[in-house]
This record gives sequence, C-alpha cells and structure tokens, in this order.
Amino acid sequence: MRHHTVIVGAGHGGSQAAVALRQEGYEGAITLIGAEVGYPYHRPPLSKAFLKDDEGKLQLLRGEAVYGSSDIDYRPGVNVRRIELEARRCILGDGDIPFDNLVLATGAISRIPSIDGIGLNGVFTLRTALDAHRIKQHMATAENIVIIGGGFIGLETATTMAALGSHVTVLELGDRLLARAASPLVAAHVKSRLAQGGVDVRFATQARALLGDGTVRAVLTSDGETIPADMVLIGIGADPNVALAVEAGLKVDGGIVVDELLRCSANGVYAIGDCACFPHWQLGERTRLESVQNATDQARHVAGVIMNKSTCYSAVPWFWSDIGDMKLQMVGLSAKADRHVVASGAGNNALAVYHFERDRLVAIDTINRPADHMLGRKMIAARYTPDEADIVTGQVAEIFKEWVRVTGADIAPRVS
Ligand code: FAD
Repeated sequence: MRHHTVIVGAGHGGSQAAVALRQEGYEGAITLIGAEVGYPYHRPPLSKAFLKDDEGKLQLLRGEAVYGSSDIDYRPGVNVRRIELEARRCILGDGDIPFDNLVLATGAISRIPSIDGIGLNGVFTLRTALDAHRIKQHMATAENIVIIGGGFIGLETATTMAALGSHVTVLELGDRLLARAASPLVAAHVKSRLAQGGVDVRFATQARALLGDGTVRAVLTSDGETIPADMVLIGIGADPNVALAVEAGLKVDGGIVVDELLRCSANGVYAIGDCACFPHWQLGERTRLESVQNATDQARHVAGVIMNKSTCYSAVPWFWSDIGDMKLQMVGLSAKADRHVVASGAGNNALAVYHFERDRLVAIDTINRPADHMLGRKMIAARYTPDEADIVTGQVAEIFKEWVRVTGADIAPRVS
C-alpha cells in the first residue's frame, strides 16, 4: 500500500507542506484538505491591497495546475470533522480518509468579545477571503467605522478606510498600539502617523456594547461615550484553531504542543503554523507565532522531518505589515528585550530600532528601512551582536560584512 500523508488546512502552511513534501522527494500519496472553497491564497493582502483594489481579486499562493502536476489530491470546501488517532483516519462529512502521517495546519480563529450587539449586521472580523469580500462591500457605504483593537489587522484596515473617506476610530484597551508584536518606539511612530492620516485612536478604551436595531449604529465605550458607527471591525487577535486536536486527545497548551521537530504528542502527527505551539530557540520556551514566514518555514521543515531529516526547527522569525505609507518589518522577537537602540538616520517616516536582551541582539524593528531589516535577518541568523556605537553611527553593515569575511560565519537565514 502506498504511504499516505494527510494535511488538514490549506492555508499558507498546509499548501506549502504539500508542495515541500514533493520537493523533498516524498513518493507517497498526499491529500490536502481545506475548509475554504477555491485554491489556497495569500492571506495578508486581505487587510491591505484587496480592500483598496477596485477588482478585489485574490492572489493565489501558486498556480492551480501545481496541485495536479505534483500529484497532490487537493480537496477544497471540505471540513475534517474528527481525527481518530488509533484508527489513523480523518472523519469527513461524507466518509473518512486514512493516513500514515498527519499534518495539522488549521490556523487560527478571530477572537470575538462577548458584548451586547456583537451579532448585529455591519459587525465583522477579518480572517478569510469571504470576510474580506463582505467588509469591502459594506465599507463602500460606511461613513463612520469603529475598529476594536489596535493590532496589525485593525490598523492596516483603519488607514485604508480613512484614505477612502470614512471617519475611523480605533478603540485600544491598552496604553499603546501593536502591543503584541512591535516595540513601543515603533508603536509611537505609527500612532502619530495615524493621527496625521485622520484616524482617531483612543487608548484605555473598551467597547462595552454595540448599539443598533438589526444593524449596528453606534458603539458604547467603557468611558460611557456613544460613538456613531455604521460598521465595526473586531481586531482583537486570534486563538489557535485546536478543536480537532483537543478532541483527538493531543496535547494542547496555548496551541497544539509540538517538539523541536514539530511532532505532536502522538506518533506521526505534526502541527505547523498559527495553530502550533513550539519550542523557540530564541526564547528558550514554547511560543506560537502568527506569520507567513512561520507557517511556510515550518511547512518546509515538517516535510524534511517526514523524510527523516531530523534537524531542530530554528528559523529566524520575521513579519511585515503595511500601515498606510509605513512598511513595518520585524525580525527576531523583542518581547523580552531590556535595551533598545535607535539606529542612525531616523526621521522622515523611517526608523530602525535594535533590541537587546542581556547584551545580545534579539530583534530589529524597522519602518521603511528594508535594508536594515535584511541586515537584521542575517545578523540574527549568524547570532551576531553589533556594538551600540556602530548602530548609532550607522556603521553596522560594514563591520558585520567584515566580521563575516574574517570568521566565515553562516549568514543564510535558517530554513527560509
Ligand atoms: P491559515 O493560512 O489561516 O490556514 C488555515 C486553514 O485551515 C484555513 O483555510 C482553515 O479554513 C483551514 N481549516 C481549519 N480547520 C479545518 C478543518 N477542520 N478542516 C479543513 N480545513 C480546516 N502575516 C504576515 O507575516 N504578514 C502580514 O502582513 C499578515 N497579514 C495578515 C492579514 C490578515 C487579514 C490575516 C488574517 C493574517 C495576516 N497574517 C500576516 C498572518 C498570516 O496570514 C498567518 O500567520 C498565516 O496565514 C498562517 O498560516 P496557517 O497555514 O497556519 O493558517
């Protein structure tokens, strides 16, 4: 019998895993099952170009022909209902499918606050192409839009909506924007730029209730204010999609728990991407990341592991976001940083901030400075820490180049 790998979830991670298995020389059968209809597509543009473009076309991750020519049995619009680990099969609505290896790439689910009025028309979350279509349609006539949550998705859409002429208010529970993913200096720059673009940001403010009669008309805030709103976008983050894993009895703790080889707590079962909680080489503990880089690098890695290449996953994490006229790029993880150094050349809507933890470079956040970002990827991959004086005087690139020449260090980013 031909060996069989089943991949559940056909987003960035799942579809990449299918293709990577073939690239690694896997000769078994591959079934890629996705709950969404159509072919796998790029998710990031949904909160960016897709909302602005008149045509509003999805960008496919790869040509439709690839799945057939790679002998990947792609099943769109199919939900895996249950996994039976002992019997080694996935239960679908209309039958079941056996597996030898199972890769869970089920992504994440938008968080929804439990407040009155959440079910009104005109209230949206943004995760799928279908969500984006609905938002785009509604946006066209919305005059007053309230965005709940000052994270990436909320801010990307806020700038687009404001540029298209709507009055946009962002409600943020914390005292700064982008608290989960970017440093305070970057967040402060974004805040001032948003204000210039006409986006009204309210800190330490929560939505208490959404008011309306069938359709949303206003948001009642924790300050007791009533803000007019004919559209509300919820952007308060996402939770890992772990329902299948929990029911199957796999270990789940802040995501589907995997080891350095991305293996779950049952033999031959793996988890990748937004749903996976994995040991991070930089943090020294398990974490879950939501980024295209993480999903695709883990997909390539898991394909290697299935083909018996047992190296530990150690990719350099990076992320980007486009907020109005700002291209934000983050490399490394700055959550535990204790020292922050602003690189020379800041100003004119450009910024690079180096983050250190106990004198070790752990992350670089940049705005409109792609060269610094690429340099950061190389330095973090090489585990190189620059001197503060060189950052401030703008000499890091030169000195790092010389260091690489002398030491012969490996600067290829891990995996990607
Ligand atoms: P996903 O791509 O979410 O795919 C999971 C798939 O699994 C979904 O299609 C889901 O329907 C399917 N699925 C779940 N359960 C089942 C089941 N039981 N049966 C069958 N199928 C199932 N990242 C960046 O790096 N930069 C950005 O600028 C950026 N912008 C973003 C903008 C938006 C609007 C969103 C939503 C995300 C953005 N991200 C961005 C995050 C990035 O898209 C995700 O980290 C990435 O898609 C994760 O890939 P994944 O394969 O883990 O999950």
